[in-house]
Amino acid sequence: MHYSKLFIPTLKESPADAEVISHKLMVRAGMIRQLASGIYSILPLGLRVLRKVEQIIREEIDQIGGQEVFLPSIQPAELWEESKRWDFYGKELLRIKDRHNREFCYGPTHEEVITDIVRKEIKSYKKLPILLYQIQTKFRDEVRPRFGIMRGREFMMKDAYSFHTDETDTQNTYHQMAQAYTNIFKRCGLEFKQVQADSGTIGGSFSHEFAVLADSGEDEIGFCEACGYASNLELAESKPPSPTAPLSSPQSLKEVETPGKKSVQEVAEFLNLPARQIVKTILFENENGLVAGLVRGDHEINPIKMKNLIGCEWLQPAGEEAMSKHPGLHCGYVGPVGLDLPVYADHEITALHDFVTGANKPSMHFTGVQVERDLKIEKVWDIRTVHANDPCPRCENGKYQIKRGIEVGHIFILGTKYSSAMKAVFLDQQGKENAMVMGCYGIGVGRTAAAAIEQNHDEKGIVWPRNLAPFQVIIIPVNYSNSDLKNVCDNIYDKLLEMGIETLLDDRADRLGGKLKDADLIGIPLQIIIGPKNLAAGQVEIKVRKTNESELRQYPQVIEDIPSILKDL
Ligand code: ATP
Ligand code: MG
Repeated sequence: MHYSKLFIPTLKESPADAEVISHKLMVRAGMIRQLASGIYSILPLGLRVLRKVEQIIREEIDQIGGQEVFLPSIQPAELWEESKRWDFYGKELLRIKDRHNREFCYGPTHEEVITDIVRKEIKSYKKLPILLYQIQTKFRDEVRPRFGIMRGREFMMKDAYSFHTDETDTQNTYHQMAQAYTNIFKRCGLEFKQVQADSGTIGGSFSHEFAVLADSGEDEIGFCEACGYASNLELAESKPPSPTAPLSSPQSLKEVETPGKKSVQEVAEFLNLPARQIVKTILFENENGLVAGLVRGDHEINPIKMKNLIGCEWLQPAGEEAMSKHPGLHCGYVGPVGLDLPVYADHEITALHDFVTGANKPSMHFTGVQVERDLKIEKVWDIRTVHANDPCPRCENGKYQIKRGIEVGHIFILGTKYSSAMKAVFLDQQGKENAMVMGCYGIGVGRTAAAAIEQNHDEKGIVWPRNLAPFQVIIIPVNYSNSDLKNVCDNIYDKLLEMGIETLLDDRADRLGGKLKDADLIGIPLQIIIGPKNLAAGQVEIKVRKTNESELRQYPQVIEDIPSILKDL
């Protein structure tokens, strides 16, 4: 491709709203342009990169038996009503009406559509399992679209769905998929972790995310280098406390005045106790009303763990309206002793004795509280957020590290959530009807490309991993109108194309400085710089974008060397 013929509108300045480097560089490198909030046009250079990601995905998913389909982006409301998600999905679902006033949505995901196809076409165990996937545009009306195509409203996703006769077979595909994802992200040149994850609005029994480690990531990942355990912080398990022997003479329950002391820190200082001796009572509300969570003063409740423990539909911090129905609750002094609400406690509480809680009266706390003697608890479990350096839950001596990550892929075992609701059933060998067991598996195509930039860039621009680069080589003549230089450029260009190497020839009449800047910005892995002085000595300069190292090589021998140089990049 000749640079002058390619539409690459590079910019010197980043857009004012761009917060992360990948957004800035994608716009500056002329890969994307914003049309409306979270809605982007993908320009030629950007599309070349996205196609690379897609191709890698295709090859790996085909390898494990996936069959590609292409499903409609507009989906009828009736299907979503069957799965009960029409109401549940909320405002992220873009709802539209056709000329007959029939309701549709723009698909944020395709469980309903694919389940509808499979239930109509597959009736027997003989046709199972089946793994179908597509690479297609999704629309989610995100609350906060940002970071360019990393969190867009319209975005490209690879979504795959598998249907099975039983859970074991689903797990086999799930593991194969995890391996395929590992291959995909390795081939994309990414540093990532497979982490245990929550299954969110898609629902289902268990799931893993693939997170690319980057400071700009929206997720936090807790992991242990010693044993390899890794989890989204939303779910990261805390190690259960070692059991403590009961005290021979526990304190008795005592009401003490704590005038105006509401926060853990204030109460701890006032009573001259460490924060870990204070137990916080945090109120939440769910579909059944208020609930209380207990956690040590130096810890925080993790609402996702708490929601999973209760098994409720939703859980949020208690609002004023819900609180007003319980007149005995005094903000800052709520405590579990005698509290007329379901109480859930973090397991660390069970290792405490003689601790302090609110006394459900203004400016009063209890001291000398004991779990067994004084509290009525529905369930005790791990409901706290882990901290860096907390002990690893899976091995003896490991400690948690916490880093930020970008979720690029997500795999779920859905079980029969959709097949039961939508009656996707098959006849087994005994002629008995069963619901199909399902898995679903997504990868954000644009987000993967953006994540690659987050991990691979410098002050000059993008440094593409070789397999995602829009071109492998860029030829930059000092002056293309010089016929000697032109002949050499054209010869190298033709030979590289013959070898199947994607090559860009910068044939523009611009000054060398500008061309080098653009080459650095768009991040092509290998630059071949051709100038009259070097050429007079029979040499050309090759420069590796990643290391900035350059060396002179003999022309035309250099042409033969390019494939092996590229291999090492
Ligand atoms: P997030 O927590 O980031 O909102 P999600 O859990 O909603 O992601 P899934 O429903 O699992 O995402 O979608 C599968 C994949 O699609 C994600 O792993 C991510 O790579 C990509 N993806 C999801 N939302 C977006 C978005 N708004 N923009 C770009 N890619 C997205
Ligand atoms: Mg989301």
